[in-house]
Amino acid sequence: MSNIPKTQKVAIVESSTAPIHVVNDYPVKQPQDLAPGECLVKMHCTGVCHTDLHARKGDWPVKPKRPLIGGHEGVGEIVAIGEHTSQSPVKVGDRVGIKWLADSCLDCETCRKGLEQSCLNAKLSGYTVDGTFAQYVVSYVKHVTPIPDALESTEAASILCAGVTVYRALKYSQTTIGDWVVLPGAGGGLGHLAVQYAKAMGLRVVAIDTGADKKELCLKLGAEVWIDFKESKDIVKDIKDATGGFGAHAAVVTTASSSGYEQAIEYLREGGKLMAVGLPGEAKLNASIFFTVFKSISILGSYVGNRQDAREAVDIAARGQVKCYYSVKPLGALSEVYEDLEKGKIAGRIVLNME
Ligand SMILES: [Zn+2]
Ligand SMILES: [Zn+2]
Repeated sequence: MSNIPKTQKVAIVESSTAPIHVVNDYPVKQPQDLAPGECLVKMHCTGVCHTDLHARKGDWPVKPKRPLIGGHEGVGEIVAIGEHTSQSPVKVGDRVGIKWLADSCLDCETCRKGLEQSCLNAKLSGYTVDGTFAQYVVSYVKHVTPIPDALESTEAASILCAGVTVYRALKYSQTTIGDWVVLPGAGGGLGHLAVQYAKAMGLRVVAIDTGADKKELCLKLGAEVWIDFKESKDIVKDIKDATGGFGAHAAVVTTASSSGYEQAIEYLREGGKLMAVGLPGEAKLNASIFFTVFKSISILGSYVGNRQDAREAVDIAARGQVKCYYSVKPLGALSEVYEDLEKGKIAGRIVLNME
C-alpha cells in the first residue's frame, strides 16, 4: 500500500473533438479514499476495442462521460481494497480483469435474471466511469474477473471484451455439437476468437471474410468452409451449398453494417438463430418479416457478457483452446491505433503495455 504513487500516466479525452492527451500527472485514488466494494488495480496491460473508438467520438445513442479515460479490456493486480468491503470474492495481490461492465447493482430484476450487463444502474468501464487506459484503475470487487495463472495478462486482455462477447453469443445460440455456424468477419478481432470458441464448442464453422491472410488464419483456427465475400458471386448460395443445401443453424454477426444481418435471414436454415452482436450507432435491421416468420428464425441480441460468461471465456482461453492474435504497443500509440481501427487496418487485436 505504501508504494502507491500519488499521480500516474493516463490517456484522457476532454471532448469528442479534442485529441487524446497522454498526461503523467493524473491523480491516483488513494486506498483510504476507496469506497466499500471498490478496489484499486495496478494495470499490466489493456486491449483496445472498437467500442473505445465510439467512446472517443461519442457517436452512440448513449453518450459517454467527459472528460473520459477510455478502455475496458484491462488486466492488472489488485493493490488495495476499500475499507469495510464485505464478502469480497478477490483479495489484494490477485490478478484480475476489468471488462466493459465495471459494476451493476446485482439486485434489480435484470441482474437477478443474469443480464447484469443490461442493468439500468450499470457502470461501464471507459464509458460511464473511467477505464483502463490508466496505470491505476478504480474497479469493483464483485465484478472484476479473476485471471487464471496459466493465462498471461496480454493474452487475457482481449478475451475480456472481444472474447466474452463472441463466446456468449455462441453460448446462447441454441446450437449443439455438429451444428453449422456462420461467422461474417471471421478473420477480424472478434471473428478469429469466435472461430476458436465455436470450434471448442463442437460447432462447424463457415468463415466469411476476404484476403489470403485471413483465409489462412481462419482455416488454421479450424474453420471448415471459407468464403471470400469479394470473390463470391452469391454468398447465400455458397453457404447453402456448404451446409448440405439447408443453410446454417446460427450466425454470429459482429459487423457494423445492416446488410450482414439481413443476409443472415436468407442463409439460415429453418429454426435458425441470428445472434446480433455488433453495435452500429445508427443502422436499422431490415429483416424480411415474412421469412423470419415462415422459417421460424429467431433474432437475438447478445450484449457482452455477465460475470459467469467472463469467467468461462477466460477459463477456456487459459486451457489453451482459444488464443488471441495481438500485438503490443505503448499507451502513447493510442491515437494511431484509433486511426488504424477506423481504416480497418488492424489485424487481430492491439494490447497496450501499461507498465
Ligand atoms: Zn469492447
Ligand atoms: Zn441491476
